[in-house]
Amino acid sequence: MIQSKGYAAQSADTNLAAWEFQRRDITENDMLIDILFCGVCHSDLHSIKNDWFAGVFPMVPGHEIVGRVTAVGSNVTKFKADDIVGVGVMVDACLECENCRSHHEQFCPEGVQTYNNIGKDNLPVYGGYSNNIVVREEFVLKVSKKLPLAAVAPLLCAGITTYSPLRNWKVGKGHKLAVVGLGGLGHMAVKFGIAFGAEVTVLSTSESKRNDAKALGVHNFVVTKDEEQLKDVKGSFDFILDTVSAKHDINLYLSLLRTSGVHICVGIPLESLSVAPFSLVAGNKALAGSGAGGLAQTQEMLDFCAENNIVSDVELIDIKDIHHAFERMKKGDVRYRFVIDMATINK
Ligand SMILES: [Zn+2]
Ligand SMILES: [Zn+2]
Repeated sequence: MIQSKGYAAQSADTNLAAWEFQRRDITENDMLIDILFCGVCHSDLHSIKNDWFAGVFPMVPGHEIVGRVTAVGSNVTKFKADDIVGVGVMVDACLECENCRSHHEQFCPEGVQTYNNIGKDNLPVYGGYSNNIVVREEFVLKVSKKLPLAAVAPLLCAGITTYSPLRNWKVGKGHKLAVVGLGGLGHMAVKFGIAFGAEVTVLSTSESKRNDAKALGVHNFVVTKDEEQLKDVKGSFDFILDTVSAKHDINLYLSLLRTSGVHICVGIPLESLSVAPFSLVAGNKALAGSGAGGLAQTQEMLDFCAENNIVSDVELIDIKDIHHAFERMKKGDVRYRFVIDMATINK
């Protein structure tokens, strides 16, 4: 077994704390990766608190992982020691079902999430808030050494979660795209939307984010509580990418779509949202969802980011400050993603 050091929640009622544990030895198809950086995703907090469902404890969260390969199994061909790599939200799948064959491995019924899940060997899997990880080759992504690696980590979840729907709906030149919520996901949606050639508007409930949005290069900023500003954008957007994970009025946003416009949800509020069918029927509008992205598209996204110099805006933290980071994240007080510097685990 491989010795690991991480931060784990022992139950949904306890805070994360230092924990030493073991990972499986690498098989011929696995790689051992020393973790350099791990992004702090809102799902990490939801998972350790059992907000969505009863979790697998002890739980080491973290699925925005960038690291350096230290060992590879005898069948591994794509990677060698010292390569810089990424691991996102999944570490295994059957690779044979309809979802896997159509490059949607994230929806494989036998898929294994990076943490809060049981692996094919019937042992729990542990995530990226730790010094190392063992992952099957197919689920490891190549990362360009050209980019600042701490700022690459959030691409593995926040990046692909926003890149995927924008690519799948072919958002680009000539489209008006609105992004709801300017957080970890939202700021990546803005960067990709601009890079794909769309005219990007940020829709916000408060004026306070106007300067931040402008600094990211958005073309337009609209405060949705201001009737005057709202009037100007009624019926105007081709696409709305909705990253909000709190309760919100989806009918209001549907009214801002033009005919045949599409509202895409990537945020996951804990409560159901109510949709008036009239909001969809009048104007042939569509309400869609999108969850993470498959392996091929995640690699495509990382390559696109390397070519176009796109990374996440991050605040690097010491792992012992994770509780403070969670408190600030809950308040939306982060620009725009916390990333753990894993070297600090040995301090
Ligand atoms: Zn995530
Ligand atoms: Zn499958």
